[in-house]
Amino acid sequence: MKENIRELDLVSLTQSYNQPSYRAKQLFRWFWKKSVKEFDLISDIPDVFKNSLKTNFFLKYTTIKSKINSSDGTIKFLFNLHDNLICEGVLIPQKDRFTACISSQVGCSLSCQFCATGTMKRARNLLSSEIFDQVVLIMDECKKIYGKKLTNIVYMGMGEPFLNYQNVIKSINYITNKDGLNFSKKRITLSTVGISKMIEKFALEDTGVHLAISLHAANNTKRNKIMSINETNNLELLQNSLRYYFMKTNQKVTYEYVMLNEV
Ligand code: SF4
Repeated sequence: MKENIRELDLVSLTQSYNQPSYRAKQLFRWFWKKSVKEFDLISDIPDVFKNSLKTNFFLKYTTIKSKINSSDGTIKFLFNLHDNLICEGVLIPQKDRFTACISSQVGCSLSCQFCATGTMKRARNLLSSEIFDQVVLIMDECKKIYGKKLTNIVYMGMGEPFLNYQNVIKSINYITNKDGLNFSKKRITLSTVGISKMIEKFALEDTGVHLAISLHAANNTKRNKIMSINETNNLELLQNSLRYYFMKTNQKVTYEYVMLNEV
């Protein structure tokens, strides 16, 4: 059965075909800088190798299913995934800033009380290529509609990024790598409900992206009521992991806080 080549380790793949080491970098550029849609368009690899790729792998890209325009200029996208599931992304235009809000999962298992995604079951984690494709699609729409470059990316759409950790980390690499989109790390924010162990793991990744915490309550009683994650990751654990994060990265963390009526 054919495999999705964009989800494979290109170094191992090219080695298994006895290709020179620079071949992995060539393919990386085709997939993550140029978003090539057909193997035949890859112009700098030998035909024999290209034919092997065509025989054994497929190239699959996420597409836009529909978009909804708001009066303030915000555009909400529904994206078609390879198995006909759908995820959401949003383009948020502001005066000097154009932000893509992207998803990391289809649905979510955490059911925060204030979140529409929390009412849906988690169907699956998004592939790293599916996370990446949302950025490219929103980037293209931003250029087409507003004539502007995307300036910011937030992992704040459907799903909890730290529950799809490996694919999120891979997607950050494709977005920020100079052979990928070469997007500034400083303009990417990963927003999490605060899974302590994963914050500590993330502190050691050295991704350079910004971390934001969905806090929404300042004591455990209130937070337990609106965010189920707090029952296993209470504020004390969160505080300890954030201290560790700051010690390792020297990066400030942003806190998100929604004022909820009668909570
Ligand atoms: S973790 Fe995020 S996506 Fe999931 S329910 Fe909570 S706020 Fe919504």
